[in-house]
Amino acid sequence: MKIAVFASESNPFCKTGGLADVAFSLSKELAAAGHKVVFGLPYYKNLRLGDKKPKEIGSFNVYLSWRVQEARIYSLNEEGITYYLIGNDYYFGRDSLYGYDDDGERFAFFALAAKSLLRFLSFDADVVHVHDWQAAMLPCLIKEGKPFDPFFRKMKFVLTIHNPAFKGLLDRYYLGDFYNLDDHLFTSGQVRFDGMVSTLKSGIVYSEKITTVSPSHRDELLRNEGGHNLDGVLRLREDDFLGILNGIDYTEWNPLADAFIAVKYDASSRASLHEQNRADLLSSFHIVDQKGPVYGLVSRLSWQKGIDLVIDNFENLLSKNVNLVVLGSGEYGLERRFEDLRARYPEKCGIYIGYNEKLAHKIYAGIDFFLMPSLFEPCGLSQMISQRYGALPIVRYTGGLRDTVKGYTGKANEKTDGIGFNDYNISGLSYALGVAEGLYQNREAMEKCVANAMMANHSWKRSAALYEKLFFSLLS
Ligand code: ADP
Repeated sequence: MKIAVFASESNPFCKTGGLADVAFSLSKELAAAGHKVVFGLPYYKNLRLGDKKPKEIGSFNVYLSWRVQEARIYSLNEEGITYYLIGNDYYFGRDSLYGYDDDGERFAFFALAAKSLLRFLSFDADVVHVHDWQAAMLPCLIKEGKPFDPFFRKMKFVLTIHNPAFKGLLDRYYLGDFYNLDDHLFTSGQVRFDGMVSTLKSGIVYSEKITTVSPSHRDELLRNEGGHNLDGVLRLREDDFLGILNGIDYTEWNPLADAFIAVKYDASSRASLHEQNRADLLSSFHIVDQKGPVYGLVSRLSWQKGIDLVIDNFENLLSKNVNLVVLGSGEYGLERRFEDLRARYPEKCGIYIGYNEKLAHKIYAGIDFFLMPSLFEPCGLSQMISQRYGALPIVRYTGGLRDTVKGYTGKANEKTDGIGFNDYNISGLSYALGVAEGLYQNREAMEKCVANAMMANHSWKRSAALYEKLFFSLLS
């Protein structure tokens, strides 16, 4: 297949969130499976290119109604993917990826340039995969742009929604004044959302298929759980709307080849080697082993992640023989509360405020239980990472957490690989922590769950195969 991908970020060049991981890892797998994958990405000023030198291959004008802006195109190869960097200093020669008053105009340029790029390259893609609001207008631009260009006739479009909170809302006049599109698309409701133009909604309306990052999150969006208000338009497209779980990067997250941890291990050697990684972790935090379960958390410290519930519970739980290690940064109030917790239990509780990749690896390898009681979680990666390292995730059943964790409730079977609870409140998590305590005392059940967790398949290969199947289903 010929696949064209358009996204506003991609590993290893630029990243603000999971979108960069997904767009890159998926493209890499599809290229490895033998497909021709081209990737259109803005040429931001601060792309991390290392010693790579993108080659300038040409330029063309992009017409945003009466404005004319040049797109200079550079190419480079990475992991089998051909990247086309879309350069324009006025729009992308800035310090950050997003957060500017004219982001609407910047990504209108990106979407218009994306259309011209396909033409410029004569790349007659079988499937054009667009991600999130920044690229979501492309299917509409191609299908409604006048005059219609037969070059695009056979192309099929897939939109992936990573973050439904960002809808690409623009004033109505953008339609004509930037996108060169007819105002009737607004009056007919095709691109209208809440009295404005929404690029994300337009992607939902004009793409052949729509996906999001887990099956449960798909259902939540359809039920409007989370209040993103996309349920109306998504219900119209329900039959073409799928949830496909993200994978994790098995090269980055592999306990058998992890240079950051004290002792490397796999499912068969974990039981005998775990003690050493545990000791190394606790000494990194300068805390004393309480000979009970070690709980850990690696997360943005945000209200979305259920951090309050963790602190509320551990204020009491830390009076028992347990350890807690925390790595994260974010909301000041939550950081302060963790600092207070450490002050109360300095020997049992270790807190690192900040971002630290090496320490994250040590935590996944050294703990027994990983805390992830999120209020909402479209997919979540940390629970899958912790499973791969044999740390059982304690999750609230929401979004991707529901899809990846089969909770132990007193009996270990072939599937149980973590602990889950439903009610988002202190007693919900307290119940799950009680289950964890019981499980920790039952060595046999614990080891069974750990083995299940480590054997679970969360590779990108599995996810990419589902996207590939979806793409094939579009070919006529
Ligand atoms: P998010 O909503 O933040 O994207 P995910 O679970 O999808 O949550 O991904 C979080 C990723 O970021 C994981 O790989 C986790 O290990 C990493 N991470 C989060 N906070 C930190 C931190 N303070 N230091 C190191 N890694 C972190």
